[in-house]
Amino acid sequence: MSDVPESHPRYLSLKIRDAIVKGVEQGITSMHGLIAHGRGEAFDYLIGEETQSFARAAIRAAAAMLLLAEHPVISVNGNAAALVPDELVELGKSLNAPLEVNIFHASKEREQAMQRHLLEHSALVVLMPTKQAQLSFIDSNRKFVHPEGIFKADVVFVPLEDGDRCEALRKMGKDVVTVDVNPMSRTAKRASVTIVDNVVRALPLLIQEIQTLKRTSPTALKKIVSEYDNGEALQVALQCIRGGNFAKKIMEKLWSTQ
Ligand code: ATP
Ligand code: MG
Repeated sequence: MSDVPESHPRYLSLKIRDAIVKGVEQGITSMHGLIAHGRGEAFDYLIGEETQSFARAAIRAAAAMLLLAEHPVISVNGNAAALVPDELVELGKSLNAPLEVNIFHASKEREQAMQRHLLEHSALVVLMPTKQAQLSFIDSNRKFVHPEGIFKADVVFVPLEDGDRCEALRKMGKDVVTVDVNPMSRTAKRASVTIVDNVVRALPLLIQEIQTLKRTSPTALKKIVSEYDNGEALQVALQCIRGGNFAKKIMEKLWSTQ
């Protein structure tokens, strides 16, 4: 780990970067994941590196949708495994949902390293991709899924998703809940619920919201889902970014600590 002093104005961002670099060193995250992370960092800057109201609304809808699911599954890629392994495991336990390894760049070694990593973080079930079950409408390695996992799921939680697969899952009639800090990505636009936030901040809040809503009636949960408009949430996120308010706040924070 790099030696970042806690007083550094970009301390948190640099710690998160350390986690991704460690993921690559451990064979969990792909080199391409570093680039995806860089894009995420840029968008995080633009939303003020804080969970904004549009993300909070999406977190509530996501929690309700996941609680209503008959067969929820948590899809894990190399970046998510490096950044939030404990939270993914906790989310799985709170929903009684399996984790499933699913990566874009085919590598048996990396899939196995991810499975080991998640089990070390106390995951109960970590499903692996199989040749027996394949998603339609997609050609990449991400089409290989587990028959008892993503293949069967009615709601898939896929943080840091690739647009192609999000589209395929939707075409197969599944709901997709994603976390993507870029409101303009194809994933963000195609998902049923998009939490526009850094996955590192969003996951603890989602777990908390699931606890809060756990004893809510299905009727009330359905109301939360039906009242949520993903297109509108993305528009609000985009307007906030265009207005530059959050970026201005970050700049002020950085200048005042210099
Ligand atoms: P799409 O395929 O949906 O059009 P993309 O090709 O731009 O998106 P991918 O590499 O497929 O991007 O997926 C990475 C997405 O995850 C990007 O939109 C990126 O901004 C986002 N992202 C990266 N790191 C984080 C993070 N820590 N938290 C939330 N989102 C992130
Ligand atoms: Mg993509």
